[in-house]
Amino acid sequence: MAFSLEKSARAFAEAKEYIPGGVNSPVRSFRGVGGTPPFIAGAAGSRLYDIDGNEYIDYVGSWGPMILGHAHPAVTEALRDALMRGTSYGAPTLLETELAKMIRQAVPSMELVRMVNSGTEATMSALRLARAYTKRNKIVKFAGCYHGHHDSLLVKAGSGATTLGVPDSPGVPESIAGNTITVAYNDVEGLEQVFRQTGEDIAAVIIEPVPGNMGLILPREGYLAAVRRITQEYGALLIFDEVMSGFRVAYGGAQAYYKITPDLTTLGKVIGGGLPVGAYGGRRDIMELIAPAGPVYQAGTLSGNPLAMTAGLTTLKILAETPDMYQKLTEKTQTLCAGLKAQAEKFGFNLQFHQIGSMFCLFFSDKPVYDYDSAKQSDVGAFNTFFHAMLEQGVYLAPSQFEAAFMSAAHSDDDIAATIAASARAFAKVEE
Ligand code: PLP
Repeated sequence: MAFSLEKSARAFAEAKEYIPGGVNSPVRSFRGVGGTPPFIAGAAGSRLYDIDGNEYIDYVGSWGPMILGHAHPAVTEALRDALMRGTSYGAPTLLETELAKMIRQAVPSMELVRMVNSGTEATMSALRLARAYTKRNKIVKFAGCYHGHHDSLLVKAGSGATTLGVPDSPGVPESIAGNTITVAYNDVEGLEQVFRQTGEDIAAVIIEPVPGNMGLILPREGYLAAVRRITQEYGALLIFDEVMSGFRVAYGGAQAYYKITPDLTTLGKVIGGGLPVGAYGGRRDIMELIAPAGPVYQAGTLSGNPLAMTAGLTTLKILAETPDMYQKLTEKTQTLCAGLKAQAEKFGFNLQFHQIGSMFCLFFSDKPVYDYDSAKQSDVGAFNTFFHAMLEQGVYLAPSQFEAAFMSAAHSDDDIAATIAASARAFAKVEE
């Protein structure tokens, strides 16, 4: 049967009548790659199923959370039990302490942990805290790093913003954006220069230690250590935004992988096991400024929600207890990348493949990609052709050149082989 998205196209048209752009988060609209986004009816393991009856091997994993695959039986079972005990209490539970404990065991720099409902909330709250602690106002971020959609950080923000061509959003007051200084990722000298000029005013540097929102970029050797040294020298806090990399590149996140200790860390995605969760945490003396322990206000009706805590806890327990979990995820991802690279080379494409743990990305560029500007040199048209050719063959990649892809524990060797086989036909299309 020929590939068709007829029902999705109708659903998309109807959704646009009721929802801005038909979606509840911009990149889902496929604006970057064109065409119709499949409307999803369900998911299991490595697979997504759409309302037209198409089945896809999914490398988006809900943009990172689904490291165990979709509808993992243990997570589903735990959620079913939790559901019967009520969905929200607005009062403390044992689950919250248990999850905070597991997070601190994995990420020891997070001495105290506060749960919120999204990555955006986590980074927004971490910035407020950093400003309160240092009594300074300026924030440094890196071009192409995305930390959520709150005003201070929606500046040169990568992925969705890049794809839609709105690096700065209307509605962000200049007075707020003016306190955000943007530096190129992987550029130590650029960061040093900013600190020489205005280091005494900088409250914090916030960084995706492994950026995954301008495609996947890897830190150069010694880069993260240099960022740590510079922030320490000037008394600015270092915030690792590990919303994507946490429990993903390693159980202890990028800070365990690269052995760098930040002052504050933000988490999301995997720690919610597919339910809405974020968290921020760090040094006890800083975190104790948060209300009600201290004066920095931050709250949430649904924060620490029992269903979300249950999904997160169950996910982390499986990750912690399955032997060689991260080793196997890494090996599968390496096998896939090697296979895709071999196919690309058969067609004479010299592409940039980046991979760390179970995150990967291929840039349609024949030059090294190490920051936002070099990422933007990629041939987006070629990516889009590749993307659609893969989709039509049942492989669901992120609908943008400027996104990372994710392997899950549920992907089988057959899934990987099928993906590589599909790529041969997709590269052939790009060549046409
Ligand atoms: N920080 C990073 C590194 C992210 O990748 C994201 C989302 O993709 C966020 C923050 C924002 O998280 P959320 O979409 O849960 O608000």
